[in-house]
Amino acid sequence: MSLKEKLKTVLLRTGALRLRQMMLPQSAVILAYHSVTTDWKKQSDYINRGITTDADRFKEQMRILREEYNPVTLNEIAGWLQGVQLLPPRSVAVTFDDGFADNYYVAAPIMEQYGICGTVYLTVDAVQRQELPWFCRTAFLFQQAGNRKTVLTDPETKKTWNLGIPKENREAFVCYSYPCAKLVGEELRNYIEKLETWFGFRLDQSNIQGMMTFEQARELQQHGHIIGNHTFSHGNLAHIPQESLYREIAEANEILEQEIGEPVEHFSYPHPCLDPQWNNVTLAETEKLNYKTAVLTSFGLVTRRCLPLLLPRIMISNPNNKEFRWKLETALAGIQT
Ligand SMILES: [Zn+2]
Repeated sequence: MSLKEKLKTVLLRTGALRLRQMMLPQSAVILAYHSVTTDWKKQSDYINRGITTDADRFKEQMRILREEYNPVTLNEIAGWLQGVQLLPPRSVAVTFDDGFADNYYVAAPIMEQYGICGTVYLTVDAVQRQELPWFCRTAFLFQQAGNRKTVLTDPETKKTWNLGIPKENREAFVCYSYPCAKLVGEELRNYIEKLETWFGFRLDQSNIQGMMTFEQARELQQHGHIIGNHTFSHGNLAHIPQESLYREIAEANEILEQEIGEPVEHFSYPHPCLDPQWNNVTLAETEKLNYKTAVLTSFGLVTRRCLPLLLPRIMISNPNNKEFRWKLETALAGIQT
């Protein structure tokens, strides 16, 4: 065990972090998950490993939350922020971005075992079309092109990319992801289709359980989970054309409410590639919809001083039990790791 790992063990076991937590004002943690899978290998072709949690590890994490923390919902956190209800100490809320089908098939049954209700934010267009969001389609293109050692010449700029070289592949991936993050709706779809034509192949989604359906979302809601809005197209709201904001937030919300049959009161900002992920214009747009909460991908604890429409979270990829506890305990102690 490295010195760093030994130190982590000591700090976790001695209660030093707990002592520090007791000196801080009360806070809550919002965990941000994306995909929870039983088939890591297959799924990593199109869902980035950085946003995928192994089902067995997820089960352990839910057990830890139930035994060592206090799982709460975002409605409870919203009530606490408004000053109308109390929260237990060490409160933790579980959220999922994007609306992958595995949230329904894999994560929800595990959460049910431990009596934990979470929030699932749906990318409305992807759910409606039953197609994976654009960033899964681009991830597939570049990963496959890397395996095939494709040399791609951009027909527009004439630049040549040797996609078999990992560094060059990454650079190209970022280069072609930037425009996607700034596009929405049909323009975004056209751009992705153009890329797929250049590459000469595309992700075959016919055998993939990609996105959950609205029906499944309704079922989750009936079991106590919250369904939230993750925009229509999954662009970066601070970078898309301003005239698209209404469609991306308000219209997407309207579709969701019609499909779910209940008010949609929680929002999650997508965060593809570019920074920042919000600005004053996007904030004003979420204010118009009277959301109870809106969450970001930026790291942090929720305190009474946080704005309900700009709540930080803690991203969870695939930590083991010790790493998971370390993330939570350091966060609650006000330390960013
Ligand atoms: Zn997302």
